[in-house]
Amino acid sequence: MPTISSGKILVSGANGFVSLWVVEYLLKKGYSVRGTVRSANKGKHLRELFKSHGDKLEIVEVADISKEGAFDKAVEGVDAVLHLASPFTDKVSSAEELIRPAVDGTVSILKSAKKNSTTLKRVVITSSMASVMDLHPVPSNFTEADWNTHSPAEVKKSGLGAGPIHVYLTSKTLAEKAAWDYYNSIKGTVSWDLVAILPGMIFGPMLGAVNSPDDLNYSMGVFFKSLLSSTSEATTQEVVFTPLGGWVDVRDVAESHVLALSTAEVKDERILIVAGSIFPQNIVVEGQKIKPEIPNRFGSEVPASPKQFDVSKSKKVFPGFTYKTLHQTTADCIQDFVSKKLWPL
Ligand code: NDP
Repeated sequence: MPTISSGKILVSGANGFVSLWVVEYLLKKGYSVRGTVRSANKGKHLRELFKSHGDKLEIVEVADISKEGAFDKAVEGVDAVLHLASPFTDKVSSAEELIRPAVDGTVSILKSAKKNSTTLKRVVITSSMASVMDLHPVPSNFTEADWNTHSPAEVKKSGLGAGPIHVYLTSKTLAEKAAWDYYNSIKGTVSWDLVAILPGMIFGPMLGAVNSPDDLNYSMGVFFKSLLSSTSEATTQEVVFTPLGGWVDVRDVAESHVLALSTAEVKDERILIVAGSIFPQNIVVEGQKIKPEIPNRFGSEVPASPKQFDVSKSKKVFPGFTYKTLHQTTADCIQDFVSKKLWPL
């Protein structure tokens, strides 16, 4: 069983919101990193951000992750793979536009890992709470034993008509399923094992070049809009009390990826990484404690979210791992918005 506490780690989609923190944590821990980006231009900020680490960071281009063989060269000589590249947007013109890169990109990196790496000990895929939760309006307490069958059924029936949230949840569910199916078909013939990290919606300060609210990734866009929801007269009680599901700080997600490398016993496991379950209104309430000028038309009493997640496994397999509070994350996000001049509006 591998414990990877040094060596070279491949990070796919290295320029993304979460990946930048993953790269930061890896480099600080002394790992070398090979990051993939879609084009040279996407690697510029990454290179600048981590220039003090010199040649510990290598950037390679993988233009189309869905293509079989796309990662053949990228996996050569690495000790582990962290696969984060996947589309997260609600601006798509078909369900396949989201599902194909998610599923095919995941299978493609695993196939390259099988074919081209003898040094590889572990592949960690960034799945999501999306692959366990459903959107039925009933209270639930999800664990790693659950699978989201609701969203794939809705998307099969109605395609994009099921709604962009169901389509994203389906892309992550089918990608994770495809990963386990492929891995189980080759297990024992390869030098590596598989781990899936399943984070809630991810919030936190951003290492990316964000110059306007339009540059925010999907989850930080949700956070930003939630914080400002009471500034719009059009916002209703129904909107601010629609469950967001689980949430987690981006730095805790990055740490969990690094721990997934160095913790032997998480071999072949799925691990939910969720700090708590919230409504958009919870973000307003925390925001107002930090900046009293933040308007709050819907009060400070927020009930418990009906969509809960049992994260006892994360605490058991990663001893000492703790989750940041929503108050801390909100404070750090607001400070980040101010420093990036996204705030005040
Ligand atoms: P970002 O949108 O910030 O980054 C996504 C990364 O994936 C970027 O590097 C992006 O490249 C790349 N990517 C997206 N679509 C494609 C594609 N079709 N082909 C090649 N590369 C692509 O997302 P996050 O950092 O928020 O998410 C990272 C991972 O974490 C994803 O797998 C996501 O599903 C998962 N996750 C995210 C959560 C969140 O709340 N943010 C919650 C749970 C899981 P480019 O910049 O070129 O578009």
